[in-house]
Amino acid sequence: MTPHAYADILPDIGYLQPMQDLKEIHIVMPQNSPAQPLDHVNTYSRPSDLRITDIRIATIVGAPMRCPLIQVYTNQGLVGYGEVRDGASKNYALMLKCRLVGENPCNVDQVFRRIKQFGGHGRQGGGVSGIEVALWDLAAKAYGVPVYQMLGGKFRDRVRVYCDTDVRGKDDGTAMGHALQQRIDMGFTFLKMDVGIGLLQDEPGTLTAPLGYLDELRQAIRRPGPEYSAEERRELARKWYALNNTAHPFTGIRVTEHGLDFMEQYVADVRAVIGYDVPLATDHFGHIGIEDCIKIAQRLDKYNLAWYEDMLPWQMTQHYVRLANSCTTPICTGEDIYLKEDFMPLLSSGGVSVIHPDLLTCGGIYELKKIGDLAQDHGVAMAIHMAESPIACMAAVHAAAATENFLALENHSVDIPWWNDLVTGLPDPIVKDGYISVPDTPGLGIEALNDEVIAEHLDPDDPGLWECTDAYDRLDSHDRLWS
Ligand SMILES: [Mg+2]
Repeated sequence: MTPHAYADILPDIGYLQPMQDLKEIHIVMPQNSPAQPLDHVNTYSRPSDLRITDIRIATIVGAPMRCPLIQVYTNQGLVGYGEVRDGASKNYALMLKCRLVGENPCNVDQVFRRIKQFGGHGRQGGGVSGIEVALWDLAAKAYGVPVYQMLGGKFRDRVRVYCDTDVRGKDDGTAMGHALQQRIDMGFTFLKMDVGIGLLQDEPGTLTAPLGYLDELRQAIRRPGPEYSAEERRELARKWYALNNTAHPFTGIRVTEHGLDFMEQYVADVRAVIGYDVPLATDHFGHIGIEDCIKIAQRLDKYNLAWYEDMLPWQMTQHYVRLANSCTTPICTGEDIYLKEDFMPLLSSGGVSVIHPDLLTCGGIYELKKIGDLAQDHGVAMAIHMAESPIACMAAVHAAAATENFLALENHSVDIPWWNDLVTGLPDPIVKDGYISVPDTPGLGIEALNDEVIAEHLDPDDPGLWECTDAYDRLDSHDRLWS
């Protein structure tokens, strides 16, 4: 029996006893096993003394989204990987730095509760959630186990993936059907497509709206070219913000019978290509009110779709109940909900049959597992929204592995050739035959980030690669939520 100071012991050189104080751990060598040199031990890992020392960011674009990647550094050389949600500001994570330096990342829940008040719904949950992922990566690396093991073990060895699928060129149902068939040919067993009023914008007689409103929408989504002045760009951005933040019931947009016929034919054409054996989820119906959602839902019910996603803002619980009671397709939402508390009204109301949290909005790995378990108690399945780098993807894989009612994990990046190369230590490709294998290596299973590839895809508006973040060191606010 060899007394040893460190905890991160490779399985082939022994096991730990006892677990309560890692400084006093003894390595018990298996009988007949020759003594192994201590250089097989990860001397970086003294979990009780592990402390966060720094947090840095590199923001990539084209993955296909803009993704701020996070590295959390420690006093023992371990680095934890996290990520702010796609399209969110890196500042959501950096503002937490002064509240994290000096903390022990192994106390994941305690540290999470310390920063929890700084998250919010949508992208605002991205900083807290992304840091939480890095805490788990560090804690699991420090103890030498995969993250899923720290969540209670796994229900599956591989995680089913579905791809959001777009059509290149003319978007009609047959073209979408062929694009989806290619996914099936790649091995995917679960599909998703967009079917909404976006399909109708160039089809006369399909939409009713306050006159001029649809033209305003068309203009607002156009990206201003270089000929636009800074002032013109700001004005366009201001208009876009106002239109984009008008919630579904307040736009006044309605779908005509011709519009419903058009959408129905689109889905019929898709099913004519891919058949009915494979689940097909649907998303991005557009900002329309509850009555029009019901009209579409009833028209499309016969195509046996896997779910209708985000037909309405998730906060409108009673609208969800009305929708769910009006059709026979599972109703799904959740990618913009922060914390399990706000899943409760939807779950207890019976307004959803599938929830779809994003790990980088909902509060991270442990919160996702709790949300999944809560949904299971209500007879609701959990799919996972994911549109980021392999860091977020692997965080979701561990949470999905550890949650019984998991259905499928989204991936937007199977067509991005360099996406796999952002990291090392994982199979290449990460998504193979429609699944991701659950890794058994410590932490998220990512050996290292590939700075060369990251450097090639940095955001031109924010091209720093793990730059100094000392500006975020000073605690400049009194954080208590009560007086
Ligand atoms: Mg969605």
